[in-house]
Amino acid sequence: MPAIKHAEAAGRFIADEARTNWHDETLWFVRQKRDKAANTIPGWEALREQASQIKDHTLSNLDNYLIEFEARAKANGVQVHWAGDGKEHNEIILKILRNNHIGQIVKSKSMLTEECRLNHFLGDNGIEVTDTDLGERIVQLRNETPSHIVLPAIHLKKEDVSDTFNKFLGTEKGNNDPQYLTEAARGHLREKFIQSALAITGVNFAVAETGGFVVCTNEGNADLGAHAADIHIACMGIEKIIPRAEDLGVFLRLLARSATGQPVTTYSSHFHRPSAGKQLHIVIVDNGRTRQLGRPDFRNSLKCIRCAACFNTCPVYRKSGGHSYHTAVAGPIGAILSPNLDMKANADLPFASTLCGSCSNVCPVKIDIHNQLWKWRQVLTTEGYVSTGKKAAFGGMAYMFAHPALYRFAGKAGRWMMRNFPALFQIKRLNPWYQQREMPAPPKQSFHDWYLKNRNEHKTKNN
Ligand code: SF4
Repeated sequence: MPAIKHAEAAGRFIADEARTNWHDETLWFVRQKRDKAANTIPGWEALREQASQIKDHTLSNLDNYLIEFEARAKANGVQVHWAGDGKEHNEIILKILRNNHIGQIVKSKSMLTEECRLNHFLGDNGIEVTDTDLGERIVQLRNETPSHIVLPAIHLKKEDVSDTFNKFLGTEKGNNDPQYLTEAARGHLREKFIQSALAITGVNFAVAETGGFVVCTNEGNADLGAHAADIHIACMGIEKIIPRAEDLGVFLRLLARSATGQPVTTYSSHFHRPSAGKQLHIVIVDNGRTRQLGRPDFRNSLKCIRCAACFNTCPVYRKSGGHSYHTAVAGPIGAILSPNLDMKANADLPFASTLCGSCSNVCPVKIDIHNQLWKWRQVLTTEGYVSTGKKAAFGGMAYMFAHPALYRFAGKAGRWMMRNFPALFQIKRLNPWYQQREMPAPPKQSFHDWYLKNRNEHKTKNN
C-alpha cells in the first residue's frame, strides 16, 4: 500500500473547505467550457468515434507503426532511442547530456518524464532542470508535483503563487496581480532558456508515415526551448503514434476542445528534422505499456491523449485534488494506468470513483473509463490487494443479497437497532461513513414492505 492512501490524502485536502470549493468550481467551469466548445462542432460524436477507431487500429498494429516511424525519423536525421522502462529512459538522457558536457537544461511539460521521475534522477546526477511551463515551474519551485496533467498548479491560488515567487524569484511581498507574477516568471524563464544548451519536450502525436511529431502548448515554451537550444530531446510513450498526418486533423480538433474548451491549442508545433548543426533525439518508452496492451480489459486505456477532460468532470477528482492520487497521472485515467505500473502501491485508486460514468461520456477517444475502474476493483480483489476487512464485508454483502430472506431479516434488524441504539452507529471507528454525515431517521418499513402493502391495497380497491 502507498504511504498515504487516497482517502487519507483527500481528507487532508478537503480540510480546507474554501479551497476545496474553489477547486471544484474552477474545474467545473473548465468542464462547461469543454461542453460549449464541443457543441460548436457539428458531428462531434462522429469525430470522437473516428478518433477512437484510429487509436484502436493503431494499437492493433503498434509494432508496425513504431518501426515505420523509426525508419522515417532516422531518414530525416533524427536519432531514435528505445527505452524499456523509466530507468532506461533516464539513463539515455543522462548519457546524451554527459556526451555533450551539458549541466543545465530546460524542459517543457511531459507527463512521461514525470512518470519516469526524470527531474529527480537528473538532479541526483548534478544536472539543473528548469520546467518552463508556468504551472510546472510554480510546483517545481515549491518542490511539489503537478496535480493535474493540463493545469499542473490548479490546486494553488494566486496568493500561493505570489508567496512562492516572493521566496524564490524576489517579487514584491503580497503582490498577487497575475500580470505582474506572470511577467516575473517570464523574465526568470527567459534567462534559463538562454543559458540551456539542451531542451526536453514531450510528444503529443508522432506520425508514422512522416517520422515527425507534434508538441502542443499554450505558452510556446516547448518551441522556445527546442529552437534556442542546440540539442532537442523529445520523450514519447509508445502509444503516442498515429498512422497518418491527416489523422492530426481529428486529434488536434478534439484535444484542445476537450482540455480547455479552446478551438485549438495556441502552439501546435510540428518537428521533423534537426536544424543544420543541431541534434534532434527521440526517446521511445515502453515502461509497462506493452503489459497494459496485453490486458484485454485495459488495453484501450492506451488510447488516452491526455486531455484531462475526465479529471475536470470527475466529482471525486474535483473534490479530492490531484495529489491525493499519489501518482504522476492523477484522475480517472491515472487510476486505470497506475495499477498496471504497480498494483500494490496503487490498489486504492480504482476505488476513488463513484463509477458515475461522466468520465467515459466526455472522453474524446471513447475510453470506457468507469468500466475499467470497476474491472480493476475485481482484479485487485482477486489478486489480494484489498484489505481483509473490505473483502469480508463485500463477501458478506454478496451472500446476503443472494439470500432474500436473510436480506429482509438484516434490514429489519438494522432498522430496530437504529431506533433503539442510535449511538452504536455513530462510533466513528466502526462507521467512518458517518464521520461527516448526519444519520438519517430509520424508516418505518422497507421499500419491499411498503410496496407489498400498497400493491395489496391497490388491488383490493380495484376489485
Ligand atoms: S482518458 Fe480520455 S478524457 Fe481522460 S485524459 Fe485520456 S483522453 Fe482525456
